[in-house]
Amino acid sequence: MARRTIIAGNWKMYKTHEEAVSTTLALIDGKGGMKGREMAIFVPAVFAREVASMSKGKGLDVGMQNMYNQKEGAFTGENSPVMVKDAGCRYILIGHSERRHVFGEKDEIINAKVRAAYEFGLEPMLCIGELLEEYEAGKSKEVCRNQLIADLRGITVDQMKVMTIAYEPVWAIGTGKVATPEIAQNIHAYCREVLTELYGKETGEIIPLLYGGSVKPDNAAGLLSQTDIDGLLVGGASLKADSFIAIANA
Ligand code: PEP
Repeated sequence: MARRTIIAGNWKMYKTHEEAVSTTLALIDGKGGMKGREMAIFVPAVFAREVASMSKGKGLDVGMQNMYNQKEGAFTGENSPVMVKDAGCRYILIGHSERRHVFGEKDEIINAKVRAAYEFGLEPMLCIGELLEEYEAGKSKEVCRNQLIADLRGITVDQMKVMTIAYEPVWAIGTGKVATPEIAQNIHAYCREVLTELYGKETGEIIPLLYGGSVKPDNAAGLLSQTDIDGLLVGGASLKADSFIAIANA
């Protein structure tokens, strides 16, 4: 089975309703052939239903950026996996570095969210990646390995068929410091080794591994040319349809 290539955008906590609608329309109208790549956007919860309904059948997949791990209950301010699914989302982003490091999410809760995604029919995109001090101490691989093992605890080979992993070194997110294609490829190849160790060669080979961290139209092609980089997760440069489309076609 061939590995999919996915170009995903993370709008973070940006955009008014009007901007969300106009950006979605511009993406649908302008994305073109995209060399057989898939396009997805992770939008703020309040826009999810409308953006998903606008995008249905138009080759633009939609996900939310976070959810809680319970079906329902007294969890003020949270969205449940049932709500994400009911809004029309295909994907759910889990363990983004801003969830880990701004909101203090630990691997245990991230693992519970991954399990909940499967329970309620969502496709998880799991983010992993090391902090600057861990990178400087040569611990990138160790951190990624530990996160993969902890966050995927209890997940089966079958479930992994609809998993996407995004390697996002925290030092590269929103900083303008992109990892070179060689640095990213080295970590991606290692993550694939870990996934192969955990789930076997067949599964390890097909899991799409996306890179994220200061991706722009001018560095996207170099990253995508690497053997184990199967797509991109783009924050800032996904906010404008033009630059996101340029990245998707790079
Ligand atoms: C992100 O939000 O996942 C991200 C990678 O952001 P940026 O592209 O702005 O670094």
